[in-house]
Amino acid sequence: MSIHRRDYYEVLEIERNADETTIKKAYRKKALEYHPDRNPGDPAAEERFKEASEAYQVLSDRQKRELYDRYGHDGLQGRGYQGFDDVSDIFDLFGDLFGGMFGGGARRRGSRIRRGGNLSAEITLTYNEVLEDTDKRIEITREELCTHCGGDGAEPGYPPKTCNRCRGRGRIVQQAGFLRLETPCPQCDGTGRVVDKPCSECDGRGRGLVRRSLEVRIPAGIDDGQRIRISGEGHDGSASAHSGDLFLTVHLAEHKHFTRRGRDLLLTLELTPPQLALGAHVEVPTLTGSTTLKIPAGTQPDHVFTIRREGFPRVGGGRRGDLLVTVKTWVPKRLSREQKRLLEELQRTLDK
Ligand SMILES: [Zn+2]
Ligand SMILES: [Zn+2]
Repeated sequence: MSIHRRDYYEVLEIERNADETTIKKAYRKKALEYHPDRNPGDPAAEERFKEASEAYQVLSDRQKRELYDRYGHDGLQGRGYQGFDDVSDIFDLFGDLFGGMFGGGARRRGSRIRRGGNLSAEITLTYNEVLEDTDKRIEITREELCTHCGGDGAEPGYPPKTCNRCRGRGRIVQQAGFLRLETPCPQCDGTGRVVDKPCSECDGRGRGLVRRSLEVRIPAGIDDGQRIRISGEGHDGSASAHSGDLFLTVHLAEHKHFTRRGRDLLLTLELTPPQLALGAHVEVPTLTGSTTLKIPAGTQPDHVFTIRREGFPRVGGGRRGDLLVTVKTWVPKRLSREQKRLLEELQRTLDK
């Protein structure tokens, strides 16, 4: 049977002392290059794919690798390892490494215990609402197991039977040239079982969409774009598996006065040139009311005043941020005769 067999290290193009990661990487590269799905009808590629898989099987197994290093191909054959024919499923090996990147239909082993999918939702809050922890009600639509049949899709009293074509495995094996291909069983659609009488509530689907209202605690200080993970509130998993999680993205509505930067609150305050020059006491808004800000005489435009602890709390507790007030000024576009006279007078004094 044995044609000339190439050295496994040569096949994967690696050094003899390559570590596990290197071996795996090298195999992935070769397997992707020669995968039959990418080289349909090319027996040379198929042979290379087989060869690379065999090399990986041996070199990734410490015991087999040791035998191979010492005695070569003969070492493996002489000790109960029969080479590639022993590899029960080349695609299982491939699937373990690559997931379902080539359709994945053949690798549905374990599909009956699948964790539920995650769900995402969004909520918009005002600046004031995130000053303290707050409870919010949200509406979600999640996939839940049918309560009538418990999720197996069979009407109670008519339990599902094991599929006789695949004997419950959900997959059937087909021989294609060198390759053993496993595909989902067409009779049971890969589920391994056959339902005689579908559930009257869910038509045999075993699950359905349910609208739920949920109360969610939003932590104080949360910022726009941050996500809250609510464990177990995603879609139901299959019968015995965990449900997925719900990811709630928080948005903050724009505020008419303020913008937010981290924990700080920013405010722009427009004052007249005399207010800056002479000084003033001005009322400025805060998130919860207002406060008086003293503008000292001679304040320059773009000066920033800090009003302590009028910003946002830190998520998880701690000191509040500050309210930063940036002073701007403006120049009147039209002047009354009186204003013009006063400004001219002012300018004459400044000229000196
Ligand atoms: Zn049902
Ligand atoms: Zn079947």
